Amino acid sequence: MLPVVVVHGGAGHIPKERAQNSTSGVSAAARAGYIVLKGGGSSMDAVVEAVTQLENNPSFNAGCGSVLNVKGEVEMDAFVMDGKTLATGAVSAVRDIANPTQLARLVMDKTSHACLTAEGAKQFARSMGIPEVPMESLITEYSRMRWRKNIAPDANPVECQMGKMGTVGAVAVDSEGVVACATSTGGMLNKMEGRVGDTPCIGCGGYADNNSGAVSTTGHGEAIMKVVLARLILFYMEQGQSAEAASDSALAYMKSRVDGLGGVVTVDPRGNWAARFSSRQMAWAAAQKDTLHYGLYTGEHFTQSIDEPH
Ligand code: ASP
Repeated sequence: MLPVVVVHGGAGHIPKERAQNSTSGVSAAARAGYIVLKGGGSSMDAVVEAVTQLENNPSFNAGCGSVLNVKGEVEMDAFVMDGKTLATGAVSAVRDIANPTQLARLVMDKTSHACLTAEGAKQFARSMGIPEVPMESLITEYSRMRWRKNIAPDANPVECQMGKMGTVGAVAVDSEGVVACATSTGGMLNKMEGRVGDTPCIGCGGYADNNSGAVSTTGHGEAIMKVVLARLILFYMEQGQSAEAASDSALAYMKSRVDGLGGVVTVDPRGNWAARFSSRQMAWAAAQKDTLHYGLYTGEHFTQSIDEPH
């Protein structure tokens, strides 16, 4: 069953004209993560590689393509966790860098802290030699259009969240059976300045523990935080549920308890995996045994050889 990598491109409602880009983006990211694993890389290397690719892809709400806050600016959150040691690293409300997940990994590897935020995170990025990029380079026409539409006094909040692009994330198990997760987001459209979502909060945006598995989440961050979604899934797995059943149980609990929708990718340390969501769509892809699996709508599950172009 090992190794395996599973990625998501965000829970939500993806307009038809953007669907193809979303599925090809997650498929390429899963393939990139899988190449790392096949080359003997760790699950942490694989999830960071997969999520970095998605951050660089303007079709997703992370890195370039992030949604804008109410002031029309980009503020991003990211999280990584290693299931062997429970080491974690996170950044919140960071600006002017292309790959927040790589910065989160540096927080894990090079500091004694779990999360750095805002200006302090920026100083740390500088000290690590991470290049600063102009905010404009992270903003797409599409994200500016949606910001403008939503800021209009007659904006319909439901419609505005409809064209929503996805937060991104990945989970993996390497050939040693070590699990890891990474999640990265621009957050919620037109959020308040300084709003921190679920993504950088341990147990909410993700969790990884070799004793049970790894999860990366997406969806309404305030709801995810209330139920500590990633850790809840692993709790159900510890009680004997499969990755798929535990993911469904936790998503159902979030829906019934706090009326929240979302999606997750989940693995157990043996390489069983699931990509599940309660939202209308979630672009996802998995790579295992030289096969690429992917889907977008509920119940969809396509497979092809990993080498076939998507
Ligand atoms: N969970 C993210 C947040 O609330 C958004 C998303 O997953 O689409 O920041």
